[in-house]
Amino acid sequence: LQRIGVLTSGGDSPGMNACIRAVVRKAVYHGLEVMGIKRGFNGFIEGDMVPLHLGSVADIIHRGGTILHTARSVQFLNPEGRARANENVKRFGIQGLVVIGGDGSFRGASIFNREYGLPVVGVPGTIDNDIPGTDQTIGFDTAVNTAVEAINKIRDTATSHERTFVIEVMGRNFGFIALAAGLAGGAETILIPERPFSYDEICERLMRGYRRGKLHSIIVVAEGAAGGLEVARKIKERTGFDTKVTILGHLQRGGTPTAADRILASCLGAKAVELLMAGETRKMVGIKAGKVVALDIEDALSQTRSIDLDMYSLAGILSI
Ligand code: ATP
Repeated sequence: LQRIGVLTSGGDSPGMNACIRAVVRKAVYHGLEVMGIKRGFNGFIEGDMVPLHLGSVADIIHRGGTILHTARSVQFLNPEGRARANENVKRFGIQGLVVIGGDGSFRGASIFNREYGLPVVGVPGTIDNDIPGTDQTIGFDTAVNTAVEAINKIRDTATSHERTFVIEVMGRNFGFIALAAGLAGGAETILIPERPFSYDEICERLMRGYRRGKLHSIIVVAEGAAGGLEVARKIKERTGFDTKVTILGHLQRGGTPTAADRILASCLGAKAVELLMAGETRKMVGIKAGKVVALDIEDALSQTRSIDLDMYSLAGILSI
């Protein structure tokens, strides 16, 4: 193995840069060359790539986003697009590929491997924490911390004005961010897509809190459970409480990665290079019970990712 490629794909997440750095430094340490592929699979198809050296990844460990840029590539979904990418594999002499991204990116990498045989390893980089095969994805911890900071600030104003606040966080299919941020932020109610809810129940909780003298209420809702505006409207209709809404949106995707995300990114990026050097392919790396692990991509993606419902119940108990 002489030369590998690295790309970031799908939604960006804080810690992707720390991961690129780890891939490059680990590879160079072992005498390999690294090509940085721009804009996800789009740059792969277009041959938009540059050599990355030790210095190319200096001063990026603390930066959010990705220096390689990222994209959702419609062309890579088509066999013609992937055939063009394979032309570049030959042209640039790439013998292995590290794909930092979400499950969609892993699927694309796996299909490309089946078609053209290029060894691929996926590194889970997404704030959503929605990838089976790993307890945590790169960027999740930072996103949760960003959401918790926002909740803290909103809590100040909620208390001062004695208001109910609805805070909408990211999570179309899963409530990982909502649950973690809601528990850490002491939210009264957390709404996640995995759990059906009723407005009667939410309002009953709110009224109970009000009767015992609670000055404010914070409701954290994952975007996939309900829209924040709609939740606020329903609460206002039923209780008459002045209910405000904050939609955190893309705030959650940016920012300097937390130490935990940088450490995870460093460990997983280095492991991906090790796997390629060992001749492994179609693997993803992850963290399970504190240990770095490698799994078959297809096996991992066939598993279902599930949220910790005991933790969800606990959040309910603690905010009674
Ligand atoms: P996130 O969930 O954080 O946005 P993701 O990697 O799941 O990340 P997707 O948009 O699902 O994001 O996938 C990224 C890219 O991977 C797609 O734009 C496409 O180029 C490629 N891809 C996804 N699924 C496939 C597939 N079945 N075949 C080929 N390529 C795919």
